[in-house]
Amino acid sequence: MRIGTRVTRAGLPASTQGAPFLPGPTFAGPYHAAGDPASAPLTYGRFHNPTWTYYEQALSELEGGPAVTFASGMAAVAAVFGVVLRPGDAVVLPSDSYYTTRVMADGYFTPMGVQVRLAPTAGNAQHQYITGAKLLWLESPSNPGLEVCDIAALVATAHDAGALVAVDNTTPTALGQQPLALGADFVVASDTKALTGHSDLILGHVSTREHMWADGLRTWRTQFGAIPGPMEVWLAHRSLATLDLRLTRQCHNALALAMLLASRPDVHGVRYPGLPNDPAYPIAIRQMQRFGPVVSFVLADRQHAEAFLAACQLVYEATSFGGLHTTAERRARWGGDAIPEGFIRLSAGCEDTEDLVTDLTQALDTAARA
Ligand code: PLP
Repeated sequence: MRIGTRVTRAGLPASTQGAPFLPGPTFAGPYHAAGDPASAPLTYGRFHNPTWTYYEQALSELEGGPAVTFASGMAAVAAVFGVVLRPGDAVVLPSDSYYTTRVMADGYFTPMGVQVRLAPTAGNAQHQYITGAKLLWLESPSNPGLEVCDIAALVATAHDAGALVAVDNTTPTALGQQPLALGADFVVASDTKALTGHSDLILGHVSTREHMWADGLRTWRTQFGAIPGPMEVWLAHRSLATLDLRLTRQCHNALALAMLLASRPDVHGVRYPGLPNDPAYPIAIRQMQRFGPVVSFVLADRQHAEAFLAACQLVYEATSFGGLHTTAERRARWGGDAIPEGFIRLSAGCEDTEDLVTDLTQALDTAARA
């Protein structure tokens, strides 16, 4: 079956007369579990929850390996670091990755004796830092710079050197890129973003090649308590069914907006891996099935960027990305990334393409006159 069919059915139980298609959330702390706990299918809500199991089954089908859901994308990132890295190990991180991943590595893992090596995503620069490392962490496309690296080539180098590879696949989702099929050991995602796409929850997951690592991640989740709420997981599973539809429109809109932006003299540094003249395109076209909803570009300065955001009528000024409403923000307002003051990260939503192009055109014109 093709992906558009698979995603609508992913994780659903077999048809049962009188039962809903997707069972509702199970809200439970303790479950009835008299006697030997080993004889009870469910005992305590931090250990297991049927709502997680349905969602994890869906993710496993889409990612190609057993999945473990977490309370947030960062809980998923931290779990991979936590199960893999020990004092004396080295991890190679993209210097342009999602900044909290770098902050977490510096703040918690460096003091525990883990060496953190940073190298940019572009040009596969992480290649040169792999020897002797335990874990290679990739983020492609990177957030917010949208640089792309050759995942299969980096995996080959890492595996030759005895390193494991994890890919943060938040931006493209499992429908846009398949890191496990490209050889990675872990795929990690913030499900807060396009995977669920309704801007109504915080969630994350990890899928692995080896069941052993999935078991380790589950134990981590149980012991550190990084568990998601059943309501969030149920909403996520319900939203997942429309991922193909949403991404199709979002990627179409992202490309249309990237083309508009690239045609404007008042806009610089437009990046979208799906633009044929983007530096990332030659690798992206080989390893991605879709290029994702995120576009980045640079306006002259902070004032120009703020004037543009204020003039947009169809674009919510908000952080995060991947939702069905188009959003944008001046990313430098947060600090932590090596980007110009006028750098905008825009996430294309599911609105009508022409309406978005019209709105961005008028907002850019207004900002240029301001
Ligand atoms: N990874 C990437 C690439 C992200 O962009 C984010 C959040 O923006 C995260 C991980 C963390 O996800 P969450 O906010 O769900 O914890």
